Amino acid sequence: MKLNSLNIFKKILDDEKSNFVKNNKKKIVKSSKNTIFPVNDLVNTIDTPFVILDKNYKVNFANYAAKKQFSVDKDINIFSIFRRPEFKENIMKKKSKRKSNEFIYEFFESQGSKFFNIKTYILRNNFLLLSFMDISRLKKLENLRSDFVGNVSHELKTPLNTIINIIELIKNQKNLSLKERKKFMSIFEKETYKMKSIIEDLLDLTKIETDLEKKISNIINLNKIILSSVDILKKKANKNNIKIKIQKTKKFNILGDANQLQQMFVNILDNSIKYADKNSTVNIYLKNVNNKTVLIFKDKGPGIPNSLIPRITERFYRVPQKKIQNIEGTGLGLAIVKHIVIRHKAKINITSKVGEGSLIEIIFNKSHATRLNL
Ligand code: ADP
Repeated sequence: MKLNSLNIFKKILDDEKSNFVKNNKKKIVKSSKNTIFPVNDLVNTIDTPFVILDKNYKVNFANYAAKKQFSVDKDINIFSIFRRPEFKENIMKKKSKRKSNEFIYEFFESQGSKFFNIKTYILRNNFLLLSFMDISRLKKLENLRSDFVGNVSHELKTPLNTIINIIELIKNQKNLSLKERKKFMSIFEKETYKMKSIIEDLLDLTKIETDLEKKISNIINLNKIILSSVDILKKKANKNNIKIKIQKTKKFNILGDANQLQQMFVNILDNSIKYADKNSTVNIYLKNVNNKTVLIFKDKGPGIPNSLIPRITERFYRVPQKKIQNIEGTGLGLAIVKHIVIRHKAKINITSKVGEGSLIEIIFNKSHATRLNL
């Protein structure tokens, strides 16, 4: 590390300055007081891995983060660690032109792969400095965003295409009978409501996401919210011949957001009513378990295969079951529930048996619940 170490350090600081200063403020201040600049110590405290290669691409120096992340050590040939051809190509290409470079590399490790933005700097004597910025989180978000846009477009396109096809049909048909007109109108109604539901659910989801960090400070009577949620869905339950039974319970108060809690209960209960067997009963329990307030919705219906339970809180995911495929839904209801659960620092447990029914538990943690029980 004797080789122009201060130059190297300056370059690293240029790139990593904000990160470094943020993480090592105390150490820098201390160093300047002592007027000693412990370069080796400092570079080892940088979270970003970096290595210096000699002209034969052997590791001349690796900071602690690089050693930990890639198991590199002095004198190891860097290409024995980064084996994929594009790594070598990128390094060689720019070095031959004596230009610094930047590229993205996927590094495979046992727990999955990580993405790094690798910057190369040409140093004196044909030495090379490589810094590795971990951009895995960014990549993941990018993928999520593009999946999300793809899903939204697909979900909106399906009802839109149905509407367009019917418009074409009407255009080419001179005389529409009353029966046909009614049939087309009801399809228009169904498809436009579908689009409206998707858009409303997406707006709700976005709002809940932006409110995620907002403090919750209202004391909410859970019993009241359950009653008002049941009230909202009473008509639908009657139409589907479903009974809703709230088991007798004492009063429970929690710290919460009343609108969001109601939205959560309505979404869960709406599913129970939609998917449950006709003439069955949906039971609601509110109880204290191990000092935690637990709200349970239990229905008798098609259930959800065990392997798919983790997926049903994903946006747009709907269980591909024949029995329920004609039941309307956006696949966003439980994604909204999940976010409201997170905001309330609660937990959601879903257990289900195919052909028997589902049980959804919302567990409010102690500090949000029992402390306030009156
Ligand atoms: P949807 O609008 O499709 O109901 P949700 O996000 O609320 O979307 O639920 C996701 C999927 O989980 C549903 O499409 C359904 O397949 C399954 N599901 C949710 N609740 C139940 C339930 N009580 N019984 C059976 N399946 C359910």
